[in-house]
Amino acid sequence: MKIAQILQLEPQQQALTVQGWVRTFRANRFIALNDGSCLGNLQCVIDFEQTEESLLKKISTGAALSLSGKLVASQGAGQKVELAVEKISLLGAADPEEYPIQPKKHSLEFLREKAHLRVRTSTFSAVMRMRSALAFAVHQFFQQKGFYYVNTPVITGSDAEGAGEMFRVTTLDPKNPPQTDEGHIDYSQDFFGKETNLTVSGQLEAETYALGLGEVYTFGPTFRAENSNTTRHLAEFWMIEPEMAFYDLNDNMDLAEAFIKSVLGYVLEHCQEDLAFLDERFQKEEQAKPQQQRSSMGLIEKIRFVVDHQFIRISYTEAIEILKNSSPNKKKKFTYPIDDWGVDLQSEHERYLVEKHFNCPVILYDYPAKIKAFYMRMNDDQKTVRAMDILFPGIGEIVGGSQREERLDVLEERITAMGIDKKELWWYLDLRKFGTAPHSGFGLGFERLVQFATGMGNIRDVIPFPRTPQNASF
Ligand code: ATP
Ligand code: MN
Repeated sequence: MKIAQILQLEPQQQALTVQGWVRTFRANRFIALNDGSCLGNLQCVIDFEQTEESLLKKISTGAALSLSGKLVASQGAGQKVELAVEKISLLGAADPEEYPIQPKKHSLEFLREKAHLRVRTSTFSAVMRMRSALAFAVHQFFQQKGFYYVNTPVITGSDAEGAGEMFRVTTLDPKNPPQTDEGHIDYSQDFFGKETNLTVSGQLEAETYALGLGEVYTFGPTFRAENSNTTRHLAEFWMIEPEMAFYDLNDNMDLAEAFIKSVLGYVLEHCQEDLAFLDERFQKEEQAKPQQQRSSMGLIEKIRFVVDHQFIRISYTEAIEILKNSSPNKKKKFTYPIDDWGVDLQSEHERYLVEKHFNCPVILYDYPAKIKAFYMRMNDDQKTVRAMDILFPGIGEIVGGSQREERLDVLEERITAMGIDKKELWWYLDLRKFGTAPHSGFGLGFERLVQFATGMGNIRDVIPFPRTPQNASF
């Protein structure tokens, strides 16, 4: 039986077997056993006089055990039930001289080096259970709304996605690649007969499905070869990309806001134990920070705030006005000062808006066309496009989306202006030739959502095996 179930039972001398890993072993008598099913451990009490000396020696933190016995009321404080053990089978010992996860506080940096074992700590098991619950909530939200889950390709032949630097996929010999007469690498001899990369976004393909299935979403891995060594960037991350026919930008913003509130509401309801633990951890971490950088709210409070409050919606132009007149801008505290309309917003600006000015999630919309992708719908002012980003406290950008340009002539013009090869996008342009319709979509970085929901400061700690520059261990 799983420990999560056992801890709900009334003690009635029932016979059970549990299997899990030792968290602690005290006084040759008390084993705290954890099986990953919940945060809590089951206290298992053994009779050391009846247990062989050689077996006792092998019970140590990290060992895998199968324990059978009777469930009784606990004598000690801190738990309602405990297992009076009658039979111990050692499934696998863990030599305490070598096993790195000891019952003490390890730093997150240390645990990143032990990513194959870190899920055996309370923090990481709580984070990963929350991650799983959030993934379920994502599917539930869209499925209940009648969206279809589509799987867009991981290997892409279109180099026009434009969302970031890509990783090449090739089977050519790196030492001696075939060359064309002009001395370029001859990709016609590569596996796919052309240059291919790992996808940076499933959007373009998802659009084709939206214009047939109506409302769709993707939820899959995406790859960016940017050398961004930050606490919010991974080279491999999971993205959720809904794409909807007949939605304009307002519908898109409404959906994104409802979606985020729904999945966060789900974990508030279903992950209470893990959340309470992570909240305590979060507040301790915050206490260690200088006063000005401290979060004014606890973790659960922060999540509840987002669920209960309407996101602020302002245009890029309004945001620039606020930033221009802000005190950090006037005092030249921004690394990138805001002088003119048209500049791209840096994370320092996004954080100012969200954490200082509004103190609330913010949706920015109608960005300058120049700083946004070719597929975003041009506004009548011919200067801005129907883009929207959702900015979150402590996270920055969590969603990027837009209404897509559905007019063939306007789209072609933008593609040419941006120096993209039209031939590569023939199938994307076909959508505008055959039954084009207004449509919209967005991308939400799943790990940034998990970061927000768990209060973890570094994105490397919310995915089992992070891929970042210079790091693809495990
Ligand atoms: P940023 O400006 O933060 O680098 P972006 O504008 O490049 O993000 P988009 O192309 O709009 O990102 O991607 C959509 C979403 O995917 C973002 O809002 C973010 O939540 C997430 N995301 C983007 N890049 C990464 C990354 N390298 N690691 C993790 N999540 C990411
Ligand atoms: Mn973006």
